[in-house]
Amino acid sequence: MRHLKGSRLLLILAVVVALIWAWAFWPRQPVLSVTFLDVRQGDCAFVRTPGGKTVLIDAGGAGESSNGYDVGSRVVVPFLRREGVRVLDLAVITHCHEDHVGGMPAVLKSIGARTVIDSGESGSSPMYERVFRLIEKRRLKYTVARRGQTISLPDGVRIDVLNPDDSGVDIEDDADINDHSVVLRLTYRRASFLFAADAETEAEENMVRTCGGLRSAVLKVGHHGSSNATSGIWLRAVRPRIAVISVGRRNPFGHPSAPTLQRLVDRGARIYRTDRDGAVVITTDGENLHVATTRR
Ligand SMILES: [Zn+2]
Repeated sequence: MRHLKGSRLLLILAVVVALIWAWAFWPRQPVLSVTFLDVRQGDCAFVRTPGGKTVLIDAGGAGESSNGYDVGSRVVVPFLRREGVRVLDLAVITHCHEDHVGGMPAVLKSIGARTVIDSGESGSSPMYERVFRLIEKRRLKYTVARRGQTISLPDGVRIDVLNPDDSGVDIEDDADINDHSVVLRLTYRRASFLFAADAETEAEENMVRTCGGLRSAVLKVGHHGSSNATSGIWLRAVRPRIAVISVGRRNPFGHPSAPTLQRLVDRGARIYRTDRDGAVVITTDGENLHVATTRR
């Protein structure tokens, strides 16, 4: 009787050990993560591919009410260091406005990037001049993004450039610069992320007319949720399940606008905002999406 009890115990132990072993060593689908950092009013998204390639899309910025606060050295560089990034594989500057490029000099100085891409429209921003001096000084590979280009990363991660096109838009004001933003669509297996930068309605309509396959599970909402972006036609094409708004608390622009939020709600998108949620981290195995936030 005692012998039977002992062998039963051994059997249970063996099963438990086997289960632990299987849990620890069973091959899992590698995970891609996208972190939308809280950089106050501005954009900054960090992508880590399953194989460890790193991409930074914008680096936040000084903004108009920053009083010299450098979000690049205060937030973005410490974050990248915590992530163990020695050098970025790709840094994207979507356009030359301070709330996107302001933190980039600190990032290029402290972390560096193997390749930098931008819209080719540098405007007259002093911050942008600093970026270019760094690109030249460090002899970084630099490319101008244009619709139709594809960046293929290992593990089947693919980034398509959707905007700007090469029609040579006349840049006359801030709205033109926004419409000339680098817009990217990243896909990993069946998961897709659309980074709309500050593209406004005109660029959105152009992409809907010209680009196929805009549908994306995650949309980084254009232009911080302003009323002149995220049009109905755009949302019908993208059909996001998750919308991330990168925006500063009590910003002077009134972002995000109530009608834009309503349009997203009407489309059934779950909204995350960096001003309320802090950093928004989305991980995916290429099928399922998991969202975590630092504040709630
Ligand atoms: Zn912006």
